[in-house]
Amino acid sequence: MLVAMRLIESGFTNFHIYEKDTDIGGTWRVNTYPGIACDVPSHYYTYQNEPNPGWSSRLPQGNEIQDYLVEVAEKHGLRKYITFNREVTDCEHDGTQWSVQVRDGAIESFDFVIACCGLLFHPNYPDIQGLESFQGPCFHSARWDHSVDLVGKRVGLIGTGSTGAQILSSLSERDLELKIFLRTPQWVFPLPDRKYTKFEKKITKWFPSVARFGHFFYRVTFENLFAKAVIKPGWQRRLMSWACKKNLATVKDPELRARLTPDFEPLCKRLVMSTSYYSALQKDNVIIADGNIARIDNDSVTTEDGERHELDVLVLATGYDAHAYFRPMNLKNKNGVSLNDVWEEGPFALRTVAVPGFPNFFFTLGPQSPIGNFSAISIVETQIDYILKCISQATEKQIQTLEPTAQATDAFNEMVYAAMPNTIWVTGCTNWYIGEKGIPSAWPFTGARFREELREPRLSEYGVDAAVDVYPGLFHVFQYFWPALPQSKEALKKAAIGIAAMLRVHGTSLRDPPKPS
Ligand code: NAP
Repeated sequence: MLVAMRLIESGFTNFHIYEKDTDIGGTWRVNTYPGIACDVPSHYYTYQNEPNPGWSSRLPQGNEIQDYLVEVAEKHGLRKYITFNREVTDCEHDGTQWSVQVRDGAIESFDFVIACCGLLFHPNYPDIQGLESFQGPCFHSARWDHSVDLVGKRVGLIGTGSTGAQILSSLSERDLELKIFLRTPQWVFPLPDRKYTKFEKKITKWFPSVARFGHFFYRVTFENLFAKAVIKPGWQRRLMSWACKKNLATVKDPELRARLTPDFEPLCKRLVMSTSYYSALQKDNVIIADGNIARIDNDSVTTEDGERHELDVLVLATGYDAHAYFRPMNLKNKNGVSLNDVWEEGPFALRTVAVPGFPNFFFTLGPQSPIGNFSAISIVETQIDYILKCISQATEKQIQTLEPTAQATDAFNEMVYAAMPNTIWVTGCTNWYIGEKGIPSAWPFTGARFREELREPRLSEYGVDAAVDVYPGLFHVFQYFWPALPQSKEALKKAAIGIAAMLRVHGTSLRDPPKPS
């Protein structure tokens, strides 16, 4: 949706969106589990160009976010660019263009492809002996079966991450017996929710800059607290840690408190945000079972301590395959090399958005995108601005294919990997950020650094003459003449290249669409 909005704003309408589902909304349409809400403040979980004075609360429910997305799509007339129920299965580049094939076999050609397929989409079904033999309703949190009446039932919940915590809080208020299989206790940060008053909503409606300030305020707060706490030791980490421990201390029973105490540092796993988690766990209708499950039978779950737990319904809040990215879409280049081959040893990308070997193909929320407790919308805004600048520059300079060089990609990833030992993700816990090689797929620097790294494309990183790197060139001009900043011969050289590039800039822009394809 954001790509479409940006392109339309630039006067470029020669694009098409494929959506495999029946409507817009992505994760907020698909996920309908009880208690689903956003644990990032609403005014920050908003497109910057579309502030929403109507948010009912700081941490809105999932359906409210879905309504917001639909409203934005209607307002910008996006539906006419989208075909629904069209899942892209294959993308093949012939050296000039991409052939995009959808599940029904139809093929269309494009100059550029951007995959905005989300990150947490493919449900992770746990590998537990006998799972398929359970006879009662059994479903993943992302595929909630609303036809199942839970009243009076014995419901088992496997998984106590962000999703499991929200389901627990919601189901604990219902007339049912809830059994939580708690394998690893989590740290829980008590981020309070708050309903916005009618007056506040009116003020944000009359003065949209108030909503924009809300966005700015929460962004700065999240970036300076959560984001800094995960990337290096310091007062932010100590503060977060103190708040989580204080929250845990609200559990009065020492035995239960000990059971709920994680053996890793706060933030190593993504923080669960909840003010109701511990009180829900202490309700009479909630029973905590050992989360190390030995096997599942037709009507029960047996834990490793030998106890058999009879259940009517089993809910799997067991997370996602966070390293699939836009796969199983099959990507192939003109030499027949597939993305699966290139990513055989784990996903990597140049500046989180492109892979060597696959020209004119970009994606959002790729490897090393900052994840933490950021707003995914905010991350994607930065990535899309960068991607569209790449495409715009290529179009202006009549460059037919943009493909990241292996050298630039390696240099970028070496820089990112070198910062990982400082992060909290590698301090001794399992978390979904960690990839196969033990390297977290998250961003180990600040949000400001992320925006800086993706501010202006450097076309030399795409194998295009370095002389067209106008903006980095300008930056080096500035750097050279500003005595307070570090100087080097390299800076001088780049400054000269930048000036040369400025003298050579010419061509068209995205306002003049390329020949239809
Ligand atoms: P998750 O964080 O990956 O948690 C999965 C849970 O399932 C963990 O508690 C894990 O235990 C447990 N589990 C997996 N296999 C198991 C097994 N065989 N036996 C027992 N337990 C098992 O998944 P999630 O809660 O769906 O959250 C994923 C991400 O989605 C979050 O980190 C967040 O980024 C996003 N999310 C965001 C929001 C929001 O409000 N913005 C809400 C929900 C989710 P172990 O810890 O022992 O592995």
